[in-house]
Amino acid sequence: MKALVYDGPGQKTWTDRPDPRILRPTDAIVRIDTTTICGTDLHILKGDVPAVEAGRILGHEGVGTVVETGDSVESISVGQRVLISCIKSCGHCANCKIGLYSHCLGDEGRSGMGWVFGHLIDGTQAEFVRVPYADNSLYALPDSVTDAEAVMLSDILPTGFEMGVQYGQVAPGDVVAVIGAGPVGLAAIATAGLYGAGAIVAIDLDENRLEQARHFGATHTVRSGRPEWRDDVLAVTDGAGVDVAIEAVGVPDTFTMATEIVRPGGHLANVGVHGKPVPLHVENLWIQNISISMGLVNTNTTPMLLKLVAQHKIPAERLATHRFGFDQVLDAYDTFSRAAETHALKVLISR
Ligand code: NAD
Ligand code: ZN
Repeated sequence: MKALVYDGPGQKTWTDRPDPRILRPTDAIVRIDTTTICGTDLHILKGDVPAVEAGRILGHEGVGTVVETGDSVESISVGQRVLISCIKSCGHCANCKIGLYSHCLGDEGRSGMGWVFGHLIDGTQAEFVRVPYADNSLYALPDSVTDAEAVMLSDILPTGFEMGVQYGQVAPGDVVAVIGAGPVGLAAIATAGLYGAGAIVAIDLDENRLEQARHFGATHTVRSGRPEWRDDVLAVTDGAGVDVAIEAVGVPDTFTMATEIVRPGGHLANVGVHGKPVPLHVENLWIQNISISMGLVNTNTTPMLLKLVAQHKIPAERLATHRFGFDQVLDAYDTFSRAAETHALKVLISR
């Protein structure tokens, strides 16, 4: 099969690799129909995620068709159209039982990044992928949900919702600020209303992304990179500070920005993946009684989000701005990595 292989920092090739095989009875093999590229793939390509070694097939988002199942797979069958969760999880270990799928203990003895496709196991930017724990890592798709909508549920919609809105403890009436209106930030913006956010302030350097944010539910937009940005955010709360600040960029500056706008007693939800150490000024923050959360997405809300997408309550398809064939995957990376010029949000790669 053909696959997009990481060849070390700054290098990737679309090349031949052996077809994946069933290795365990809980596995399934899925033919990828549509995949996409995540900001995290760009972090890996820069070399920011050293755990990912050269030779790895990248990608952790995908929609496909099941072509083979292991003997103990029960809920998924050959021929079924499925959504592939970016996190694979056994569903019954101590961590899975509390919804912490990202730290599934499984029986392969890994947790954390071990369970993300395209990290310690081969990913979805390929013609076929092996999916461990297929029963809990694949979701059958109704015909009413398109591939373009469904692929947003592999990672970015659960990430924005779980790591931003839920970890940020958004409550009815809250003023929520989202720093970074990329696909993940837009996913947080699109789902903050589910918990009744009163106002949603999108903050980004890029005017185009701020314009997009309005379509996903932002009530206010603030362009950062100007001295007045903070005053503009605080003005939405009459100077009090926002109830919830969601960091969806992944650089030290934007984490610090989040600490500068949250009210005393508020919540800061860090969603971004940081490749560099982030200063944490506990000496200033402690007196503000701020709670800070962070982590790897669990995708335990995927079934609920899938229902909302099917009901058109979340404008998932709007995130798909560009479409490519499999043989154009390098062009897709180029378009995605020049998002400021191309105005790409998510680029779809389909067979
Ligand atoms: P992206 O690069 O498309 O979007 C980031 C946005 O931040 C861009 O619109 C950019 O203009 C904006 N930005 C950059 N500097 C800024 C600044 N100083 N002020 C305001 N805005 C600024 O990325 P994405 O795909 O939306 O992903 C966002 C982050 O989420 C990445 O770090 C990604 O790795 C991470 N992520 C985390 C998880 C998780 O499990 N926690 C899962 C997926 C992605
Ligand atoms: Zn588990």
